[in-house]
Amino acid sequence: MNGPRRGNIHSVESLAALDGKGIRYEVFFMGCPFRCAYCHNPDTWEGEGTLHPTADELAAKIARYKPYFGKEGGVTLSGGEVLTQSEFACELTDRLHERGIDVALDTCGGVPLTDSVRRALASADMVILDLKFHDEEGYRRYCRGDFRAVMNTLDFLEERGACVWLRTVVVPGINDSEEEIEKYAAIVKRYKCVRRWQLLAFHTMGFSKYERMGIDNPLKDTPALSKDRLAQLQEFADKCIGEL
Ligand code: SF4
Repeated sequence: MNGPRRGNIHSVESLAALDGKGIRYEVFFMGCPFRCAYCHNPDTWEGEGTLHPTADELAAKIARYKPYFGKEGGVTLSGGEVLTQSEFACELTDRLHERGIDVALDTCGGVPLTDSVRRALASADMVILDLKFHDEEGYRRYCRGDFRAVMNTLDFLEERGACVWLRTVVVPGINDSEEEIEKYAAIVKRYKCVRRWQLLAFHTMGFSKYERMGIDNPLKDTPALSKDRLAQLQEFADKCIGEL
């Protein structure tokens, strides 16, 4: 197909506050090769999204929200897995930087490090990376993913001196014990690029999407993690890693 490259975008959210610093404009990319058992966005896995802009069109649209971003905010590229469209992510990041807008990239870290994936990671102002499991077995069993690829991404970000926030979803019966958290902490402590490690509670809000889409939900009988247990485990995690 000729003409400028177009993104395949699931949706956008103009004033988000969860994924990165300050007020963020969030862009959810379509496409993800993984199948995390606790994914709450199975509707981003494959197919066509609702928007197909060029990088310049999308950056121009986002720039209208710049006054709301303040000193810390900006744009978060998320998904799906944003690095499945790494060329488009690079172009969009460049167009946003030209407009003086900060870009955070939210990834599972499991995409092989091709040239464009490296460029996309390197050009983001910060990277939010999901450390989903602490070993091969966890990734194989619950994500159809590759632990080694995630470690390669973290190694790359460490070499670049990037700013990285790690996140781990805590799922009852899978990784909600202190013993499990200690194993993650042993990895987190190895990386100076990590500025923050946040635990997130598994929740059941995405379950209706599985029903609607007729997809098997492997965790349909798993309860949400309570706020109290999350707070306990976050406190324990913070103690394990000390000052970052
Ligand atoms: S990497 Fe993200 S979008 Fe892909 S399956 Fe896992 S949680 Fe869902």
